Amino acid sequence: MAKVLIIGAGGVGGVVTRKCAQVPEVFTEITLASRTLEKCEKIAAGLPRPIRTAKVDADDPAQTVRLINELRPDLVINVALPYQDLAIMDACLETGVNYMDTANYEPPDEAAFSYKWQWAYDDRFKRAGLTALLGSGFDPGVTNVFCAHALKHHFDEINMVDIMDCNAGDHGHAFATNFNPEINIREITARGKYWEKGEWKETDPLSVHKTFDFPQIGPREMYLMYHEEMESLVKHIPGLRRIRFWMTFGQEYLTHLRVLQNVGMTRIDPVSFQGREIVPLQFLKALLPDPASLARNYKGKTNIGCMIEGLKDGKKRRYYIYNVCDHEASYREVGAQAISYTTGVPAMIGAKMILTGKWSGAGVFNIEQFDPDPFMADLMQYGLPWTEEFLE
Ligand code: NDP
Repeated sequence: MAKVLIIGAGGVGGVVTRKCAQVPEVFTEITLASRTLEKCEKIAAGLPRPIRTAKVDADDPAQTVRLINELRPDLVINVALPYQDLAIMDACLETGVNYMDTANYEPPDEAAFSYKWQWAYDDRFKRAGLTALLGSGFDPGVTNVFCAHALKHHFDEINMVDIMDCNAGDHGHAFATNFNPEINIREITARGKYWEKGEWKETDPLSVHKTFDFPQIGPREMYLMYHEEMESLVKHIPGLRRIRFWMTFGQEYLTHLRVLQNVGMTRIDPVSFQGREIVPLQFLKALLPDPASLARNYKGKTNIGCMIEGLKDGKKRRYYIYNVCDHEASYREVGAQAISYTTGVPAMIGAKMILTGKWSGAGVFNIEQFDPDPFMADLMQYGLPWTEEFLE
């Protein structure tokens, strides 16, 4: 018996809302709020049971506080943009409500993402006796839980992790991003970074790459990138010597990205245009397809997982755990493409963990800090089955 407030009516917000609506025994009352009320109403109209909708600008904590006080939810699920994380956490602290998100805070004017800003809220959440769960999407999210599961059941010590994210889907556009274009392009154009032997090592953007043969997809070129879950996994996996993150891209995508970068369209600093200031990347976002709109014609699969090496009973072990998700099957079930689906389902499960008391505690937590077992069981039940292979 729980009330949730979901903030953000985008591609991911649509899936979380629908998935919560499918579990009425936990999510008894659902409100979906966003800057644009019509987007919430459109999502609500397609659901099997009624939910409430509301308009909120979550950049303004006073508006979120007002809405929370009116609704008194048990949990706020933040699936707006990373820019809103701190403002929503402030509103949760002020009103005494638990918090959850799928992406770590990014300052709007700096292409940097790190947990440091949200970890700094730990004391305040502890003092308030509230739970803040960070990063309950797929990556971060399921990939962290995969590591926690491997450590709990299959390894005495984990030494190396390669997180590998492959989207082999085809949406028919020459260039489009699978989630919010601004956040996505900021992430991909950043310098690569991985952790080895106790320190972070940097690489030029997308300069390190190799081929991997993804199950149910085939060989794809994947590129080393920085990704936020590495920051928390380095902290929470004892004995870790190296962790890297890889994502696949096609040549067509990379060529478009290079041209856009070369002509300055991915800049995040304002430029003066016809007497007013515009941010080129925000303008580009306005031109690109809305990620949610890709769903209808998206074909193919995603495969996201972790290749893990370490020791079990004194012997070296190599282990691979992954999920395969089909764009067309996601669309048939929830009207969304697989990237929104693979983020929205774990967001619903993370919320369910908190609301059913399976995961509890006061403070700010990354998802791998909790018991992976009930979450892994729910992935099987709610649409993201996983496969594990023992390679050595
Ligand atoms: P979209 O751009 O499709 O949706 C974001 C939504 O947030 C929009 O509907 C927008 O509302 C709303 N929003 C933006 N600013 C505000 C604000 N100030 N107040 C209220 N609502 C606001 O993005 P996605 O759905 O693709 O992504 C959502 C989140 O999920 C992002 O943080 C993204 O980084 C994260 N993500 C995480 C992944 C993971 O695996 N962990 C993978 C993919 C995404 P409106 O349109 O009404 O202005």
